[in-house]
Amino acid sequence: MANILVTGGAGFIGSHLVEKLIQNKHSVIVIDNLKTGRKQNLNNVIENKKFKFVKYDITDKKKLNKYFRKIDIVFHLAALAEIVPSIENPDEYFETNVAGTLNVLEASKKNNVKKIIYAASSSCYGLPKKFPTSEKENIDCRYPYALTKHLGEQMILHWSKVFKLNAISLRLFNVYGPRSRTSGTYGAVFGVFLAQKFAKKPFTVVGDGKQKRDFTYVSDVVDCFIKSGFSNVSDQIFNVGTGKAKSINSLVKLLKGEVVYIPKRPGEPDITQANIKKIKSFLGWAPKVSFENGVKKVLAEKAQWKNAPLWNQVKIKNATKLWFKYLK
Ligand code: UDP
Repeated sequence: MANILVTGGAGFIGSHLVEKLIQNKHSVIVIDNLKTGRKQNLNNVIENKKFKFVKYDITDKKKLNKYFRKIDIVFHLAALAEIVPSIENPDEYFETNVAGTLNVLEASKKNNVKKIIYAASSSCYGLPKKFPTSEKENIDCRYPYALTKHLGEQMILHWSKVFKLNAISLRLFNVYGPRSRTSGTYGAVFGVFLAQKFAKKPFTVVGDGKQKRDFTYVSDVVDCFIKSGFSNVSDQIFNVGTGKAKSINSLVKLLKGEVVYIPKRPGEPDITQANIKKIKSFLGWAPKVSFENGVKKVLAEKAQWKNAPLWNQVKIKNATKLWFKYLK
């Protein structure tokens, strides 16, 4: 059994990963500053003897080192997400996503961590020209969030090469599922639409709704992190998606409800679709949850969506002003 550290373990993907690791009988420490993560995401593991929670910020390197002692595998998911706040406060994004990643790498190096898995973002492809998009496609970061996550990826791979850290970077495509974050800024479509559904308000569909995303269910992403962590493969970048692109209109069809159309966002891709040949051949990983089943599972989490903030046309217009100003 391994000693595992998960940064950002109180977040959406992190908390699902921690649950699975604990189920698999590993010892897990979570470091999370609880700025966007929530301790209640860890309710199912908090009492477990093999689990430890530490409220700590990866930007503070003073005491970071001690949590890395005797750790075999680091899953580094702690980061600031979202587009608009990254345009508002790029410095905070650099502090957490770049400097914070440096601190995680240095602590991993000092403590001879055997493997590090990084949660990277498919936003590094910007407006890709080829679909499905492979790992070899051009990098085209269009806002500070995408840039800082990409810089983090480069650092992880650089430290891995120079200091033999055995890193893997996973470029995640539109992950969805229970506990996806709904608080704070206007964000991921699932949270927005589900809150609207349970409040009996119309879905705010961007543009004509024909744009497509590679929606990836969180349990598949968790399996991928675990497979990566325990494999002998290292110094690689992998796309993590389903390989299939689903339109926003098809999501609306599954969720069922009224629609109101809001302006197309400048600078957003019409399609994201991962080419997953590489990860299939290197790790033997493939997604298992279909879009239809994933949407069903999400719909079952009524309580979460009933408590989520409700967005409408006017609120979205105000929350995305900077987007329309800068991402033209
Ligand atoms: N979207 C939408 N209405 C919303 C929010 C999002 O139609 O209120 C669409 C958006 O245009 C995009 C997709 O949902 O095509 C996914 O958006 P999200 O912000 O979840 O992720 P992104 O792919 O932009 O990172």
